[in-house]
Amino acid sequence: LGPRKPPSRKGSMAGVPKDLLDQINRLEELFTVPQEKLKQITEHFKAELTKGLTVEGGSIPMNPTWCMGFPTGYETGTFLALDMGGTNLRVCEISLPEEKGEFDIIQSKYRMPEELKTGTAQELWDYVADCLQQFIEYHHEGEELGRLPLGFTFSYPASQDYIDHGVLQRWTKGFDIDGVEGKDVVPPFEAALAERGVPIKLTALVNDTTGTLIASAYTDDQMKIGCIFGTGCNAAYMEDCGSVPKLAHMKLDPKLHMAINCEWGAFDNEHKVLPRTPYDIIIDKESPRPGQQAFEKMIAGLYLGEIFRLVLADLHGNPDVCIFEGQDIGKLKKAYSLDASFLAAIEEDPFENLSETADLFANKLSLTATQPELELCRRLAELIGTRAARLSACGVAAICKKKGWESCHVGADGSVFNKYPHFKARGAVALREILGWTGRKDPIEILPAEDGSGVGAALIAALTLKRVREGQN
Ligand code: BGC
Ligand code: MG
Repeated sequence: LGPRKPPSRKGSMAGVPKDLLDQINRLEELFTVPQEKLKQITEHFKAELTKGLTVEGGSIPMNPTWCMGFPTGYETGTFLALDMGGTNLRVCEISLPEEKGEFDIIQSKYRMPEELKTGTAQELWDYVADCLQQFIEYHHEGEELGRLPLGFTFSYPASQDYIDHGVLQRWTKGFDIDGVEGKDVVPPFEAALAERGVPIKLTALVNDTTGTLIASAYTDDQMKIGCIFGTGCNAAYMEDCGSVPKLAHMKLDPKLHMAINCEWGAFDNEHKVLPRTPYDIIIDKESPRPGQQAFEKMIAGLYLGEIFRLVLADLHGNPDVCIFEGQDIGKLKKAYSLDASFLAAIEEDPFENLSETADLFANKLSLTATQPELELCRRLAELIGTRAARLSACGVAAICKKKGWESCHVGADGSVFNKYPHFKARGAVALREILGWTGRKDPIEILPAEDGSGVGAALIAALTLKRVREGQN
């Protein structure tokens, strides 16, 4: 019945000494989000989504995107798409043929150098423009090109009065580049292109969640929400303009549809409902933007490994707990030295004696872990991963409840969704708990999305050009 329960090592604690067992129990307490709490979070979330749409606003930005309505599946043309992600920069050329829901794509990936994230704005835009220039030179050598329309996936919160402009509200995901927040990101980007003579016209500035929503809806007409569970986390859904009080001054037809980029990572920045642990509080304090992205910091891939690391370092420093006794924990002391893939690998260790986990600790942290220590680490990874999946479900349930959607598809993308073991199953279990489903088939399903920052961004550019041609706003 329903989704298979994800496995858990909860039962394998025989032989674990008292001090570690006590800690495991304490961690269970701290990181478990029971059904009632999930429901309470969801209700508050729903209210905050609505509040974000008002003129006064709330902590969830609920950004209007000017992406108006879903694609029909019959969009055509050739478009460039640029995805400035946390790890990679991807450039794509997408052709949309006559056939419904079809596309062709060529792409190149460039590394996003770590230094860029905390460098200067000029360095960032120069790098991005260089990649685009390389792409065009490589794929269109010697061709006479008109200016190619570009969908630019900029996966940070931006206020938009037009689809081809966006003022960065604040950096997230560890980016910290001076002089960009509070400014329109498009002019410096276009200036860098112009300086190089790159024949590109930015047509749409797109959030990755909006791209995911549109790309998924292109091939599945039950898609109503696009989510990213990756380095950051967020969702977008299609709203009726009449339900967005902060757009009232625009005098749009209330029945028009516009995608709203929720920026739900900011949910509960005022700390009213989320069950934050002391470790979440440290993550926030030490981050470049304390007080921001409270929800995201408990869920997103950027933080999962760091939460784990903070717990272990804390246990080691606790005189009542024997863990990695007498060993040099220098490597474990280094902030952000463990990423979500480290936790994923622990959760994927297939061996009863957790020998792969032991190897991970030896190789990555130069630590020798005893069997009970390995048990604790495995359980801790499960707790952190499960909490992330369960909290994520609250966001999805909140949007569905707000909109009164009882059945639909949700398109999800991102490294955590795609690669973190059991994330999907755990999220599905939590949705069932929140929405009280008992039947065989879940009415709301979170499914792997189509390529949002490639195909989605191209489709949004196509929809925008069509709107311009037809002289609509
Ligand atoms: C950003 C969002 C983005 C999400 C997923 C968050 O940190 O604020 O704009 O959609 O990460 O990439
Ligand atoms: Mg991305």
